[in-house]
Amino acid sequence: MREMNLDDNSNNLVQSLTNGDSEKISTSRFSSLLASKDRDYLLSSTEADQQVRISDLEGKVIGLYFSANWYTPCRNFNKVLIDVYEQLKSNGSNFEIVFVSSDEDLDAFNSYRESLPWLSIPFSDLETKKALNRKFEVEGIPCLVILQPEDNKDGATLYEGVELIYRYGIEAFPFTKERLEELQREEKMKHESQTVTDLLTNPGRDYILGQTITGKVPVDSLIGKTVGLYFSAQWCFPCAKFTPKLISIYQKIKQTLEEKGGEDFEIVFVSNDRDQSSFDSYFGTMPWLALPFGDPTVRTLAKYFDVQGIPCLIIIGPDGKTVTKQGRNLMNLYQENAYPFTDAKVELLEKEMEEAAKNLPRSVYHAAHRHELTLVSEGTGGGPYICCDCDEQGSGWAYQCLECGYEVHPKCVRAVAPAGSIEGR
Ligand SMILES: [Zn+2]
Ligand SMILES: [Zn+2]
Repeated sequence: MREMNLDDNSNNLVQSLTNGDSEKISTSRFSSLLASKDRDYLLSSTEADQQVRISDLEGKVIGLYFSANWYTPCRNFNKVLIDVYEQLKSNGSNFEIVFVSSDEDLDAFNSYRESLPWLSIPFSDLETKKALNRKFEVEGIPCLVILQPEDNKDGATLYEGVELIYRYGIEAFPFTKERLEELQREEKMKHESQTVTDLLTNPGRDYILGQTITGKVPVDSLIGKTVGLYFSAQWCFPCAKFTPKLISIYQKIKQTLEEKGGEDFEIVFVSNDRDQSSFDSYFGTMPWLALPFGDPTVRTLAKYFDVQGIPCLIIIGPDGKTVTKQGRNLMNLYQENAYPFTDAKVELLEKEMEEAAKNLPRSVYHAAHRHELTLVSEGTGGGPYICCDCDEQGSGWAYQCLECGYEVHPKCVRAVAPAGSIEGR
């Protein structure tokens, strides 16, 4: 802490010596970060070489945006960030973004800068860019570090700007710890009072799609059912593997419930497809319902449930509350027995699995692996794993190769005689 302060002071000193404007500069924390010996300005994007004085940033919340043109995740994030930036600008918020380039050359930097509406540190100022990367320990891009205007300590600096923008958008402003706590509280309350109608409708739509062309199904028909929200897309390879399994499990659950009466289960496809025709052909393979392609609720839901990757199956209970976000894993582990996915049910299934494991052989040879596999559990080095046979997640019991870490679900083992033993056993 002490060292950092000394550093800042010495930077300020350099500034004041070179600019002869010691009073102004020494109060500006942004100058010490963003200026160099011979530069007290940043580049604006609007006109090629227009300059903006760093002292103009005083009193603003600043986002330092570490990014590069050549990297797709940066370009994807730009779309979201530009939108938030323009909204904040137009409502008069005290916010500015400063681009810290990791581009490879000046041409790339210039063409990238043209597409970004905020300020930039000149490409040629390697030293300042390096110092910022070092100071904020930037390990990957895109990275958005948010600095508060009044705070000279690092306590108020937020490092997870990218995540916050993706999650909360403009709502995250002014990015203080207090604001984030407030958002988290609001989010928790929303989840606690959520209903399936709130989740799946929006002001322009109160239905979802059924499987016939004219088949609009009222969202309210899902009230009182267990509902799986299936985030998936045709272009996604793990989805292509999981969907047929899900269809077969879905049909088994439906059949059992029909015989039993009283309860119902439904799945709603939340499409991440790139165009209407891939949506149509993918949805055509599914026996359940869907949100319309490109509906704004798709994005809202992905944000709301913080969906990080697909396929993802989120289970909503008959009361409209979230039961689990682990629907996919539970189905892989327990198939149709996973229904209704509640903690109580999972606990029961785990106990059953423990019992069943008692009867499993301690070790086996599996057709797809040449070493002997040993039965392990959570307590004995098992833990969550990816089954090398079916590529799906597992947890609890597994057969593991102690030599090379190969691991499979007990249900995926195809037992054989040991490799190399001609006579067998
Ligand atoms: Zn498996
Ligand atoms: Zn092995």
